[in-house]
Amino acid sequence: MNVSELYQSVILDHNSKPRNFREMESFTHRIEGYNPLCGDHFTVFLKLDGDLVADISFVGTGCAISKASTSLMTAAVKGKTRPEALEIFERFHHLITADLDEELDLESVGKLAVFSGVREFPARVKCATLSWHTLRTGLTEDESNSPVTTE
Ligand code: ZN
Repeated sequence: MNVSELYQSVILDHNSKPRNFREMESFTHRIEGYNPLCGDHFTVFLKLDGDLVADISFVGTGCAISKASTSLMTAAVKGKTRPEALEIFERFHHLITADLDEELDLESVGKLAVFSGVREFPARVKCATLSWHTLRTGLTEDESNSPVTTE
């Protein structure tokens, strides 16, 4: 399976069966993310226990890339500490915003590597990063109810 086939299958899988796709009853952070360019609109629920991401979930609608990226994001950071989750954010963000000719360390990001192709499509970068920015807002602010937009 080549990278684009892998990309297709991961996106399709997470789009049709998104992980952690539910509302959360008791959360510490509820952050809304909106990408007006595409219409992607998600609410991310975060439950921090001290420095630990004890639980994370999301609801909302968006294109296949945004939904799959949000699903993978929740799977990637659940059970991680806040610094670990922020590091995963940095790696993912670099992965899809790096210059096209830059060699990327795809080993370190696991399944998220399938998103490396997104950097060729600037309009899609916002779809893929929306929920990650939303997550970072929740991780870096004590209380946040202000929506995150990609504009
Ligand atoms: Zn989108």
